[in-house]
Amino acid sequence: AIVVGAGFTGLYMLHRLRQAGLTTRLYEAGDGIGGTWYWNRYPGAACDIESLEYSYSFDEALQQEWKWSSRFARQPEILEYMNHVADRFDLRRDIQLDTRVTSAVFDESACVWRIATHRGDAVSARYCVMATGCLSTPKPIEYPGAERFRGRLLRTQAWPREGVDFTGLRVGVVGTGSTAIQCIPIIAAQARQLTVFQRTPNFSIPAGNGPMDPDYERRTKANYQALRAIERDSDVGICARLPPDTRRAMDVSAEEREAEYERRWAAGGLYFYCSFVDLMTDKQANDTVTAFVQRKIREKIKDPALAELLVPTDYPFGAKRICADTGYYETFNQPHVRLVDVKRAPIREITEQGLRVGDEEHTFDAIVFATGFDAMTGTLMNLDIRGRGGVQFADCWQHGPRNLYGLMTAGFPNMFMTTGPGSPSVLYNMVLGNEYHVDWIMDCIEYLDRHGCRTIEPTPAAEAAWRRTVDDIGRQTLFGNASSWYMGDNVPGKPRVVLPYLGGFRAYKKTCDEEAARGYPNFALT
Ligand code: NAP
Repeated sequence: AIVVGAGFTGLYMLHRLRQAGLTTRLYEAGDGIGGTWYWNRYPGAACDIESLEYSYSFDEALQQEWKWSSRFARQPEILEYMNHVADRFDLRRDIQLDTRVTSAVFDESACVWRIATHRGDAVSARYCVMATGCLSTPKPIEYPGAERFRGRLLRTQAWPREGVDFTGLRVGVVGTGSTAIQCIPIIAAQARQLTVFQRTPNFSIPAGNGPMDPDYERRTKANYQALRAIERDSDVGICARLPPDTRRAMDVSAEEREAEYERRWAAGGLYFYCSFVDLMTDKQANDTVTAFVQRKIREKIKDPALAELLVPTDYPFGAKRICADTGYYETFNQPHVRLVDVKRAPIREITEQGLRVGDEEHTFDAIVFATGFDAMTGTLMNLDIRGRGGVQFADCWQHGPRNLYGLMTAGFPNMFMTTGPGSPSVLYNMVLGNEYHVDWIMDCIEYLDRHGCRTIEPTPAAEAAWRRTVDDIGRQTLFGNASSWYMGDNVPGKPRVVLPYLGGFRAYKKTCDEEAARGYPNFALT
């Protein structure tokens, strides 16, 4: 087998494939392992799911022995953890770093994938697993003039390894998503002057990060297996501190609702998102949480005019990815920090000195682009993948992703993707979601072996039906009421399609488990 990508999925996939006796090689474009956590080393990068939950569950000794220093792990610690995992399971001997896969072509007569890399490797494999991540292809800078800028141009998704010292500098940050919201307070603490260019304001919850509470760690570890079982039987996979509430928002009194929001707000992080079950399906329920968060944001900002810019008012809470922050809104109360609304007057170009926005030129020593990713489809569509009959993968997905369960596409036998569009992916604890996909793929491969099958791929009819299911569920939610990367809106020209499966992990898992238990009736096996 060939695995592409040494992030959370790729490492575990390699481990499982080798355990099953398959000769496996993993190619990774970066010169270190870690995937997302290798590339995104910008200041303040941290996970907004608790470290005790955002970590592998497949090995009890590993989860017992590893000690996280803080409640929410920061990027360097996650990277250290992943390196520890690579060493602990002796994975490195089958990982080839600094090697970008350039093409994967299915050879129908030999029934193998022929894979080429930018280093000239040419290998063939029966199985190809694209563990290439959901947020791994940065959007290009969408303005002319990048080459003209005399200062330092930085991208959060490819941050210099040695770090950047902004002391005394005039800095511009473009974007106000999860990434920007984490790095802005830290850059502001160093810079002489900081200007943030905001197109759409975001809802952000206080992260509430701090050192790991030893008592909490001990209690969690004492019941780790049980916690993991609950996470796997939940919709979002984060349950340790506050289990998701099973009540509907409008079934409780206004006072109870308020108390629940306050409790979760104080707890910090994404647990707030699970306040009630129907926040993303019932507009009336959502209005209550939207109003609560709007009020909380307003309370943090001294200047009411500035507050009006920073408070999202034209889309429902949760329809764009919720952010978690440490002092983000408060940063704007400082005199050297300025917010520029680029919805009103868009950025026109990068100049020698800085950015031209509307008719004004802003002068900077450094500009940071935190403008996001061609999420969920970009990486696979940019690869030269050719399936049966030489069909290009990118052509197959040009009107939106086509696959079954976010795992396989018809016409591309034995090529698996992980946490692909059409799976809960980014709306479930990613590490556990990845583990689930790896385990599903392994069961599938073992089934094929047991039954003497050479190939597996979804039937086109099942694939079309799954797309309808994903779309139908999407329409029952409020996710379509915002412009977001969940819907492909952030990339000019990308088809507007609901990318993640929005029915929750529990229902999704049941469907995938049943598929396997029934011998893959929605797949064609040869
Ligand atoms: P993002 O959420 O897509 O945010 C990109 C920001 O750049 C948005 O504010 C966007 O505005 C703005 N932008 C994009 N193109 C622009 C343009 N041409 N002109 C002006 N503004 C532009 O990307 P991200 O912040 O990198 O986060 C991506 C995802 O990664 C997150 O949603 C989350 O899932 C994950 N992440 C997680 C964490 C964490 O665990 N704490 C941290 C970072 C990232 P619009 O909103 O108007 O498009």
